[in-house]
Amino acid sequence: DALANQIAAGEVVQRPASVVKELLENSIDAGSNKIQLIIKDAGKALIQVVDNGKGMSDTDARLSFERHATSKISSTEDLFAIRTFGFRGEALASIAAVAQVEMKTRRADDEVGTLIRIEGSEIKAQEPVNTPVGTSFSVKNLFFNVPARRNFLKSNPVEMRHILDEFHRAALAYPSIGFTLFQNDMEIFNMPSEKLSRRIISLFGQNYKEQLITCQEETDQLKIHGYIGKPENAKRTRGDQYFFVNNRFIKNNYLHHAVVHAFDNLLPDDSFPFYVLFIEIDPKHIDVNVHPTKTEIKFDDEKTIYAIIRAAVKKALATHNI
Ligand code: ADP
Ligand code: MG
Repeated sequence: DALANQIAAGEVVQRPASVVKELLENSIDAGSNKIQLIIKDAGKALIQVVDNGKGMSDTDARLSFERHATSKISSTEDLFAIRTFGFRGEALASIAAVAQVEMKTRRADDEVGTLIRIEGSEIKAQEPVNTPVGTSFSVKNLFFNVPARRNFLKSNPVEMRHILDEFHRAALAYPSIGFTLFQNDMEIFNMPSEKLSRRIISLFGQNYKEQLITCQEETDQLKIHGYIGKPENAKRTRGDQYFFVNNRFIKNNYLHHAVVHAFDNLLPDDSFPFYVLFIEIDPKHIDVNVHPTKTEIKFDDEKTIYAIIRAAVKKALATHNI
């Protein structure tokens, strides 16, 4: 019911960036190779995500707004080996509880698609529509029906910063997907399918071209790949440090320290190295379900992972210094 949805929404939807994160993850899960993000007024007026993924049937389109209507878990065993992002089936229901939502979707085999309009969990329309293959999801006037939450949103630059963080994370994790970003009708990014190193340059600028050192390691427990920035280019602000575990962005101070420790006295005082590191590990050794919206995860054996990361970064730096 609407109230339960609104309560659940408090968990999942904290700000425009949370909507961006959920919609981008759904588009990625749907197998898209092009994703467009359109933002107006830092997401307070409009958040739209257009993908060319597999789309939904008219029945599934309707069901997708029901709580726990996930198509992504078929057995309890899956719960312990989560590979796709979605596993809760709460995001769309939660978003639709606190915004004015319009979804258009079509599968490749269907002649016509489906349009659904929902406002505050109330279905306003469901009808056939001509629309390209894939799904377009527009979220208008977030928290229009929860004034207390709406008033709590931060200034546009702050909310936009959070949106950009989510966009960066998705774009880095999936360089083979083309991403575009429009902000108030201006094209901010237009990135084709590309290699990770090119994606880093597309996102952070040409001056990253000469700065990336390849980092690669493989042990029985895990694989690491990605890039670290040259120590002389370390910055005084944090923010350009990215860890992905099984392609999911995570924050982990302990592992961050493993990287910094590997740089040792190469780093200028009070500065942080750039890094984009992907860790692949058997999902049974991690627990991603600590909290649905948190980016923290737990490892069985953090100490070993620390040692491996530190060694991998040290090795990369050593090759660079030859
Ligand atoms: P979850 O992602 O946890 O399964 P969501 O509420 O985010 O739950 O989405 C519900 C369901 O709607 C998904 O399981 C999926 O089947 C469908 N869905 C959502 N977004 C898309 C999309 N962009 N393309 C295709 N199917 C989608
Ligand atoms: Mg989802």
